[in-house]
Amino acid sequence: MVVEELKQFLDNNVSDYGATELEEPFKGYKYVVSMVIKLSDGVISEIETAPTHTYFHHYRTVNRLLDDAAHKTGMLLQRNGYDFYPIAASQSVNEKKDKKTAMVPTFAGVYSHKKAAGLCGLGEMGINNLFIHKKFGAAVRLSTVFTNCPEVLQLGNKKDASSAFHCDNCGLCIKECPAGAITAEGFNPQKCSDYMKNAFQHIGRGAVCGICIKTCMKKAEILTI
Ligand code: SF4
Ligand code: SF4
Repeated sequence: MVVEELKQFLDNNVSDYGATELEEPFKGYKYVVSMVIKLSDGVISEIETAPTHTYFHHYRTVNRLLDDAAHKTGMLLQRNGYDFYPIAASQSVNEKKDKKTAMVPTFAGVYSHKKAAGLCGLGEMGINNLFIHKKFGAAVRLSTVFTNCPEVLQLGNKKDASSAFHCDNCGLCIKECPAGAITAEGFNPQKCSDYMKNAFQHIGRGAVCGICIKTCMKKAEILTI
């Protein structure tokens, strides 16, 4: 059965996963599989006021593993006669508001991994604009695959599972974000992106920060002692 093969693959290659049927199909696909990889506690714990070179590499490596997992999941479905549509682990798309204006960044992907993971019951959004996984907290990266294979529903929707982590609006991430991008009123992706590019170009492309992940995880550790 395709789902047994899929479970075995996912158990060996990602930290958690779930699936659900969509109320509104995406590009004609009725089912979605969400995958989670937990980031290294050791790497996250080294972030203080700036990302580290190790975090930059870890971030890219985990994204690559998630892209691999999504594509291999799709190929497994394909071999069993189904189709799939993977969403890139880390890609934001630009758009033109109208014919006269230039392309502008949307700071969003083709489909929101966080939305898919939420629909699969894996966690919820925090006010830091990060996905807070039920078991692993904010230190996760996500991937998404759409399919026409109804068997994926047997992977399970975790919406009734208990949750060790959730956002309780403590406000620590608002205080710690060096860009002022997180506020009680909402998240400003432009401020976050500009700050990362300007402040952390020397780390790599300047596209990662991680302070809000560290802040949320540190608080969670304190709470669970
Ligand atoms: S640091 Fe506090 S307010 Fe920010 S996301 Fe985590 S729990 Fe929510
Ligand atoms: S990644 Fe850095 S700049 Fe962006 S919201 Fe998080 S703490 Fe702020």
